Amino acid sequence: MPTEIDLLRVNGLTLSFDDGAMKKDVLKQLSFSLLRGRVTALIGESGSGKSLTAQALLGMLPQEAHVSSGTILFEGEDIRTWSEHLLQSYRGGQVGIVFQDTFGTFDPLYRVGSHFQELYAVHAKLSKSKAKERALQLLGEMQFPDPDRVYRAYPHELSGGMRQRVQLGLALAPEPKLLIADEPTTALDMPIQADILRLISRWNRRTGASVLFITHDLGVVDEIADEVLVMQHGEIVESGSKLDIMTRPAHSHTKALLADYA
Ligand code: ADP
Ligand code: MG
Repeated sequence: MPTEIDLLRVNGLTLSFDDGAMKKDVLKQLSFSLLRGRVTALIGESGSGKSLTAQALLGMLPQEAHVSSGTILFEGEDIRTWSEHLLQSYRGGQVGIVFQDTFGTFDPLYRVGSHFQELYAVHAKLSKSKAKERALQLLGEMQFPDPDRVYRAYPHELSGGMRQRVQLGLALAPEPKLLIADEPTTALDMPIQADILRLISRWNRRTGASVLFITHDLGVVDEIADEVLVMQHGEIVESGSKLDIMTRPAHSHTKALLADYA
């Protein structure tokens, strides 16, 4: 049942790809809630439908995807009924996004600072100097010892781990109510993974905003999650608090994932 603590509620979402010859359901009657202030981990094997779920919540599904049923309620309003214009201000405004790779986030011809300036101009109508002030503060919060240097850098001048921290800063800049992180640490070395998880946790606690953290790694779930959704072949097969899922798994797939982790 939806309650006032749901930030986002998905009801009966079914999505398929039609390649002419056959229709393939990849999300099947998905129903779940993201609670306010909570970190929810979405875990499942590669190909189980995690990224498509994220794309659906962002209102940015591929053209070929066909949604045959379901609602996606953000603060009670169905984003499936929104115009592209509304969705654009929702993405990067109320909802921030971090992906595994940063190619789509950065324009290689522009310095990091220009990325922040554009974002702040669009979402907060800030002047260049105000935008710079806010960006430097945020880069400091992202644990860069010399924010000014990062602000002036071109994306290719940064390491992968640094780019990922900047991407997180850009996602958090508009002060979203929800951060969706789709395997943001998968390609990174262990210490950098830990940094990113710490930054996301700290932001969640400080702001009381919600996080959907997508991963195939139970170690990450253990580290960061309050709530867990377990996905298999396009279905949520189990959901509950982290403690319940980790100590009293009910579904065979969850048990199998845990057996691999232990
Ligand atoms: P995950 O993120 O859990 O690895 P995805 O959500 O990316 O999984 O994909 C779920 C399923 O949907 C996979 O079987 C994948 O092959 C299929 N799929 C994803 N995108 C497309 C697409 N554009 N066209 C056809 N099938 C797709
Ligand atoms: Mg994926």
